[in-house]
Amino acid sequence: MHYRPELKGFLPFSLIDWPGKVSSVLFFSGCNFACPTCHNFELAKGGQNLPSLSWNEIYSSLRAKKKWLDGVVLTGGEVTLLPYLGEMCFELKKIGYGVKVDSNGFRPEIIEELLTKELVDLFAVDVKGPWEKYSKLVGKNIDPAEIAFKMKKIFSLASKNHDKFLFRLTKVPLLEEKDIEIVKKYLPKGFELILQEYKEPSEKNLIFK
Ligand code: SF4
Repeated sequence: MHYRPELKGFLPFSLIDWPGKVSSVLFFSGCNFACPTCHNFELAKGGQNLPSLSWNEIYSSLRAKKKWLDGVVLTGGEVTLLPYLGEMCFELKKIGYGVKVDSNGFRPEIIEELLTKELVDLFAVDVKGPWEKYSKLVGKNIDPAEIAFKMKKIFSLASKNHDKFLFRLTKVPLLEEKDIEIVKKYLPKGFELILQEYKEPSEKNLIFK
């Protein structure tokens, strides 16, 4: 990657990004996938044209708002690419926040580390579709065996930490009903696949095609 992932967006108040919690949402640039259906394409491709926000300023604001909020959602882009992700989670937990991380699941070792260090309360992991369709779904050449291996590592972590994971799938046009059924069978026992309806991204997203 030729750029350092940075904080690019701040939503001070959300009731939908962490079900059941009042949260703030921080958006970071950079992603290891290039999904043609991405809704945060500017951010995912590096966000060089978007202004960066100061972590120190956002952190002070979060500290001041602690009594009104339950937690902070870290999203992107793909936040497991952030070299300072663990440190940031630690800082947020230090002032009493719950932390949720959204991830595409391609870096299970980072998820495992955050989990082991008890720095994250909830991981929302996207399962894009059947392993064989990943390359088309994420706009990159992905070996089905590699993505299967990585996601199985996450499923294994989830089966031992049931309350810390949820799995989501967005019903993009490339997916058929039978694909969704295949993905449901991937999940560890006791997990339900959260289905998200797909909405067309704007024209600008053609940049990923
Ligand atoms: S994983 Fe795909 S949808 Fe998610 S931020 Fe990256 S490019 Fe966008």
